[in-house]
Amino acid sequence: MKTIAIVGGGSGGLGTANRLAYKFTNEIKAGNIKIILIEGSSKHYYEPGFLEIPFNLLTKKNTYREEKNMLAKGIVLVNENAVNIDLKNQIIQTTNQKINYDYIIIATGTSYDYDAVPGLKTGTENFHALETSLKLKATLNKFKKGFNC
Ligand SMILES: Cc1cc2nc3c(=O)[nH]c(=O)nc-3n(C[C@H](O)[C@H](O)[C@H](O)COP(=O)(O)OP(=O)(O)OC[C@H]3O[C@@H](n4cnc5c(N)ncnc54)[C@H](O)[C@@H]3O)c2cc1C
Repeated sequence: MKTIAIVGGGSGGLGTANRLAYKFTNEIKAGNIKIILIEGSSKHYYEPGFLEIPFNLLTKKNTYREEKNMLAKGIVLVNENAVNIDLKNQIIQTTNQKINYDYIIIATGTSYDYDAVPGLKTGTENFHALETSLKLKATLNKFKKGFNC
């Protein structure tokens, strides 16, 4: 049995897990391949939807689905964060368990460094994440009027 572990179940990790599960349907059924998806969140977010929340085109609820409902048959979902990856011994430590793997795909996404540009954190708002998008929506809703330049 070969184990393929995918860390991160966002667009990249989830898409990859599903494609592998379709490709190896027979091998998974026969017990020759196991696909494990390790994702810290129980929800899968549609990030482009964050752009639409501030303008009242989508609500928070429209931007996510339960991760477990997005998986092709045969994928094992571990709803925990990976806290360490031992590449030499091929072991992933999650919050609650150790997972051995033969192949690993790391798809944990990006994070923004707002401190890299002075004033960016305190002087701007954005729709890069759900929380900041909801905050921007609240700010825009307080606008009474604007003007044409
Ligand atoms: C407002 C907005 C609009 C966008 N519009 C477009 C568009 O029109 N077209 C387009 O192609 N792209 C668009 N994008 C970009 C696109 O959404 C991202 O490129 C894509 O979601 C990145 O996928 P990813 O899998 O690399 O990362 P993510 O989707 O960020 O997924 C990473 C996952 O890893 C999980 N994770 C992180 N660390 C750990 C850990 N230690 N253990 C377990 N799980 C972990 C996270 O919970 C997350 O679910 C947009 C993004 C935004 C914010």
